Amino acid sequence: MMDRSDLLRLQEAYDPVAFRRKGHALVDLLADHLENSFQQQRPDVFPPHSYKEQLEFWEGFLESGDPDQFYEQLLERSIRLHHPHYMGHQVSVPAPMAVLTGLMSDMLNNGMAVFEMGPAATAVERMVLQTYAKAVGWMEDADGILTSGGTLANLTALLTARSVVAPDQSWDHKTTDKLTLMVSEEAHYCIDRAVRIMGWGAEGIIKIPVDAQFQMRTDLLEEKLKEAQVAGKKVVAVIGSACSTATGSFDNLQAIGAFCRKHELWFHVDAAHGGAGILAERHKKMLNGIELADSLIVDFHKMAAAPALVTGVLYREGRHGFRTFAQQADYLYTEAGEDWHNTGKRTFECTKTMMGAKVYALLKFHGTEFIESYVNRCYALGSEFAKMIKSREGMELLTEPSCNIVVFRYLAGSEEDCNRINRDIRTRLMEDRRFYVVSTVRDGKFYLRCTFTNPFTAAADLEALLQLMESFKTP
Ligand SMILES: *Cc1c(COP(=O)(O)O)cnc(C)c1O
Repeated sequence: MMDRSDLLRLQEAYDPVAFRRKGHALVDLLADHLENSFQQQRPDVFPPHSYKEQLEFWEGFLESGDPDQFYEQLLERSIRLHHPHYMGHQVSVPAPMAVLTGLMSDMLNNGMAVFEMGPAATAVERMVLQTYAKAVGWMEDADGILTSGGTLANLTALLTARSVVAPDQSWDHKTTDKLTLMVSEEAHYCIDRAVRIMGWGAEGIIKIPVDAQFQMRTDLLEEKLKEAQVAGKKVVAVIGSACSTATGSFDNLQAIGAFCRKHELWFHVDAAHGGAGILAERHKKMLNGIELADSLIVDFHKMAAAPALVTGVLYREGRHGFRTFAQQADYLYTEAGEDWHNTGKRTFECTKTMMGAKVYALLKFHGTEFIESYVNRCYALGSEFAKMIKSREGMELLTEPSCNIVVFRYLAGSEEDCNRINRDIRTRLMEDRRFYVVSTVRDGKFYLRCTFTNPFTAAADLEALLQLMESFKTP
């Protein structure tokens, strides 16, 4: 039965007049947020509530909160990345035009597994990928797809590597070969996950030791390959990190690329964090050798000012991208073959957001120079902060930063004291809430870790952080 009350309720929820009014109010709220954040009108970067308090609040709010307060409360109770004292994990501080495009994506909801369900979004995605491929120096046959996050992107690329290098392991068959890949011990943990998901087990990943700068010891590759072969393993790929997550170290991609060419191995580059640097004249040398890669990934939601999630998976020879998921889905894919415009043939995801439009908007409204400036500015903050640390007594860097990730600690008499003092500083920073800084543990040593992703952080903010940490140093 067609119930009139259903229709009325639905009409209320979809009312264009209310949408216009609330939309304007929301944009006003967010514009104020942007302005206030940059001007540091409030000192705190994140809310004080524990997870229990958050849950209790949102439970109560759902029951009896004032709906007109929803967006204010969401803002109030979230961490604020646009605050110049946000120096924590490596996600972009989203640029407004990309944010507005996200709103558009949500309204249009073009799912785009097939061209018909995302005609503009599909073409826009291709332009983003081609812009990137061109910056790498690749030819026209380079191609790829966008997907939701570096984790999924790495798995997607590695499945392609497997289907090319070990073709007897196909969609329908399981190979008896012992497949494995080589990667630095500093690689992101999602590589480990990808290997386990592919069913290669612990033996499926060979961790190559790193040098003092946390870069892969490429001088060990020959020896490690021989060892693997003697053990009856088939090495599928070598992965370069550009850069590693914990310390921001860039592997020598030229050396890994040459090694892969020599031994006919797949060369994959995990450039989730550092990939945007290809657009920065001053910094792209860190990525020398990336053009040798068979596949690469880049998170536009890390160093390209796009909101999460937008990740490119690119192949030097784009046709490889079709190999993994070449199975049937007759109701979707009536066209057989390698049609670039049905992106679902190359992604894990069936439905996805119109993610390409967010990056396209940045390219269109601000140009690639904007991403270049974003990278330049954030990387410069990394070296500026490192310089300040080096000029201070009683502090040390874990390693000279290559980008915007800086890992450091305060020194004390014993390692034990060292750990206690640095842990204390981090605890007190979290209680204080005026800066957001994270931490990492290397060889049992506790370090503080900053990633500068807010291009409006200034030298004075870095000084203020150092002063505050100094005051938190307990003897
Ligand atoms: C962040 C990161 C990932 C994971 O990407 P998500 O988008 O968070 O899934 C993978 N590799 C590296 C090197 C990273 O820095």
